[in-house]
Amino acid sequence: MRYKKLAELYQELKSTTKRLEKIKILSKFLEYLHKEDRDVMYLLLGDIYPEYDERRIGISHQLAIKSISKATGIELKQVVKEWKSLGDLGRVAEKLTLNKKQSTLHNYILTTEKVLENLRKLPELEGKGTVNKKLALITELLTSASPIEALYLVRTLIGDLRIGVKESTIRESMSKAFFDGDKEASKKIQGTIDKSNDLAAVFDVVKKGKLKELKKISLEVGKPIKAMLAQKAKDFKDGFKKLGKPCAVEYKYDGFRLIIHKKNKNILLFTRCLENVTKQFPEVVGYIQKYVQGKSFILDSEAVGFDRKTKEYKPFQEISQRIRRKYNIEKLQKELPIEINVFDIIYYNGKSQLNEPFKKRTALIKKIIKNNPYKIICAKQIIIGNEERAKEFYKKALKENQEGVMMKNLEAIYKPGSRVGHMLKIKPEERDLDLVITGAEYGTGKRKGWLSSFVLSCKDKNKFLEIGKVGTGIKEKSGQGITFDELTKKLIPLITKEKGKTVYIKPKIVVAVIYQEIQKSPNYASGFALRFPRFTALRPDKSLRDINTLDEIKEDFKKQKRNYRYG
Ligand code: ATP
Repeated sequence: MRYKKLAELYQELKSTTKRLEKIKILSKFLEYLHKEDRDVMYLLLGDIYPEYDERRIGISHQLAIKSISKATGIELKQVVKEWKSLGDLGRVAEKLTLNKKQSTLHNYILTTEKVLENLRKLPELEGKGTVNKKLALITELLTSASPIEALYLVRTLIGDLRIGVKESTIRESMSKAFFDGDKEASKKIQGTIDKSNDLAAVFDVVKKGKLKELKKISLEVGKPIKAMLAQKAKDFKDGFKKLGKPCAVEYKYDGFRLIIHKKNKNILLFTRCLENVTKQFPEVVGYIQKYVQGKSFILDSEAVGFDRKTKEYKPFQEISQRIRRKYNIEKLQKELPIEINVFDIIYYNGKSQLNEPFKKRTALIKKIIKNNPYKIICAKQIIIGNEERAKEFYKKALKENQEGVMMKNLEAIYKPGSRVGHMLKIKPEERDLDLVITGAEYGTGKRKGWLSSFVLSCKDKNKFLEIGKVGTGIKEKSGQGITFDELTKKLIPLITKEKGKTVYIKPKIVVAVIYQEIQKSPNYASGFALRFPRFTALRPDKSLRDINTLDEIKEDFKKQKRNYRYG
């Protein structure tokens, strides 16, 4: 398919902010999309592979600038100047390509196959001469691009397509194109997306127009799957009302989610962002081999840190560095040991467990796991219908430094990727949030040269809305916790615009903050401001999809007046 056709589709999608309009445009496109062009589905989200695949384009603004300069024959300095004035590299590429086009003709017609071919070579490159090879691959594409193609190529390269299309837009467009927008069809399509995390594979099936065919896409051990998420319960009364009695009450461990796959001898560990972290946790691989029975399975668990000497559990932020750290793993493993708490099973010995009731799944994990405290255990659980006893269990969980409890309906199925009403969390205070950094300010005095005040945003549909600034909780000297220097280094490559001391940052770095109160505020786009926010941790295990929404913040704002707390 000609890349121009795709670029024109992007343009059309960008021309409207209305969701229904976008779905109409995209569904028409999907109707006519050929089987052979299925991989275009990835490009619609700015990706080159399915979501479960970790290979990403990963091109810095700097490299994109260099290739624009090379492809258009315009000096680097001039390209940077244009960038400063237009504030958008895509537009720069479009403008400079247009100027060039007046004097030369491009080499050949760009196709989506060629674009994918070159872009897919980028993550494979390693070692000496990588930068130049990458530059050559991108420049080859840009040299053949028309202005509109250059615009979207560059936006794809830097991971900022700006067409307002999300996975849900694609789901609805598929439903509209092949099932007349039927609600049930949308649900089933979403279920299949969550199971496979592969839009092209889902497209192959929906294109046939038969819902039954969707069943053919099933779980595969080794392919990461999206975790099921919980809603909140106000208290046990509320929880039992929603779930019925009795239900399972479990510790809500204060760690990070780890989904464990085993197929014969092969063991893989994934975070909830579908990131493969097997190499970072060699001891967990050992625990699985030793203490869990079964040829093949997928387990859902929470990894929690503990103090090797006192055996006390530690809060998440103290072990979060283990998720990303790729060197000195053995040392870190000794310093920051973790315990795996298994609370669900999704697949067992060749059979999906998704549609089995929770009581059967939880019984199965108890059967196959040999409990070994401080290595791997089944999550602490009681099955109960009594509020008082549930509260006692909750207090015990808090005493052991855990976050609270989860309440789970015994009959419920496992729904990957959904925030379900049959699994509820209860925590003492609703006063922590996951937000994304969207801006910052350079510091002065002691903090000169660092970014020192960070703008935080929540999300509201397609938008990120500012809700406050945080500087507290970040350290000047290294030791415990993150430093200004470390955070600045992470954020610099994500700067999209600078104005005096203020910088705008591409939303990517998710952070956890605690705060004393939420207030209404006209100063921020969200309409709210956090009072006394304090940074607690980077959340490399969370993606933009996981950050708090404006609706949740409104809810917390309402609830803070009724502050419910146990014990
Ligand atoms: P929070 O920030 O409150 O942890 P979240 O957005 O990370 O919320 P939720 O779905 O709201 O995720 O809460 C469930 C999370 O709690 C799971 O993602 C998991 O990481 C963790 N967890 C700890 N113990 C359990 C358990 N026994 N059962 C299910 N999830 C658990």
